[in-house]
Amino acid sequence: MVGMEDVIPSQIHKGSFMKKIEHKIIREWCKGCGICVEFCPKKVLQLDDEEKVVVRYPEKCTGCRVCEYRCPDLAIEVLVEKEDEKQAA
Ligand code: SF4
Ligand code: SF4
Repeated sequence: MVGMEDVIPSQIHKGSFMKKIEHKIIREWCKGCGICVEFCPKKVLQLDDEEKVVVRYPEKCTGCRVCEYRCPDLAIEVLVEKEDEKQAA
């Protein structure tokens, strides 16, 4: 079951710090134009059977927010939270 607004969390380990990334997708606003899918440099996104964007490969997302900037309908938002990793002992 998919709600109107989905938040898909993913965590990426990058070098010495970790980024917590969430995609906030408002399905009702997505018209399935595929712009975000095409512009995503990591091919993270896909359109589903209902022509709505879904995060297919969240582990590949770098949090660049290109999808958010390119969406003409403000249907996708990327929340990036950087967490400095505790100094390794
Ligand atoms: S934030 Fe960047 S890498 Fe992640 S889904 Fe959007 S365009 Fe792709
Ligand atoms: S660019 Fe926006 S409207 Fe177009 S498919 Fe992506 S989320 Fe949907």
